[in-house]
Amino acid sequence: MTPPVFRFAPSPNGHLHLGHAYSALLNFQRAQASGGRLLLRIEDIDPTRCRPEFEQAIYEDLGWLGIAWEQPVRRQSEHIADYLAALARLQDMGLVYPSFESRAEIARLVALREAEGAWPRDPDGAPLYPGTAKTLSAARRAELMAGGLPYALRLDMAAALGRVGVLAWDEHGTGPSGEAGPVTARPEVWGDVILARKETPTSYHLAVVIDDALQGVTEVVRGQDLFHATSVHRLLQALLGLPAPAYRHHRLIRDATGHKLSKSNQATGLRALRAEGVSSAEIRHRIGML
Ligand code: GLU
Repeated sequence: MTPPVFRFAPSPNGHLHLGHAYSALLNFQRAQASGGRLLLRIEDIDPTRCRPEFEQAIYEDLGWLGIAWEQPVRRQSEHIADYLAALARLQDMGLVYPSFESRAEIARLVALREAEGAWPRDPDGAPLYPGTAKTLSAARRAELMAGGLPYALRLDMAAALGRVGVLAWDEHGTGPSGEAGPVTARPEVWGDVILARKETPTSYHLAVVIDDALQGVTEVVRGQDLFHATSVHRLLQALLGLPAPAYRHHRLIRDATGHKLSKSNQATGLRALRAEGVSSAEIRHRIGML
């Protein structure tokens, strides 16, 4: 039997915190316990926020925690061609359209919709795309693009859903509301998600799905904050004919006030704790991994 394949996939846009330590250690432990492999993937598709020194710090912090991973590390910025190829396939299927509204224009459209009644929000709390770019003619799209306007490439959710049946995934952990076992995907709650932008050739959703498939990942172990995103991932996998890994979403490590940890909070950053003399054994203890 081929060994299970796990991955830890941080973004080098800040220093790792206790929540990352928990996720990375859980992946490492599960890989070891099952005779599996642990891959490390650097999710650096956003050049405005990712920095080489944060990537270096990831290697150091994970090593300090006692985690070992396979080489080579996959760096997303080196595989843009893979994401563009997947995007082109979705475009050929007629499932992608450009939208040209600025953030301010989107906020104005949402306010208008909300003034008429409730306007739906996605599981992260952001309003669904309120625009009508899907109905623009091909000629008008070409004109706006040629004019150099920034744009986002969106998935036509209704058309995409029309191509797939009911989708589900195998949840080995638990969702934020206790979901477990086979979970039915509900990608429609995200609306017409962004797959790429004029300046950024892929989105998190597209890159993560392509990479998990290309790397042969069989079990995705990650925080519950990404539980609902799995619905979009299952849809993209189905559209692109990719296998679905099993998913294990884990509890989030929170600060003393019950908030999700953030990379900008020094108090829970692994580097800062290490500089204060905290040992990696103490880190494990603090996050309940003895
Ligand atoms: N890069 C994502 C993050 O740092 C994690 C992606 C994933 O595990 O699917 O939050």
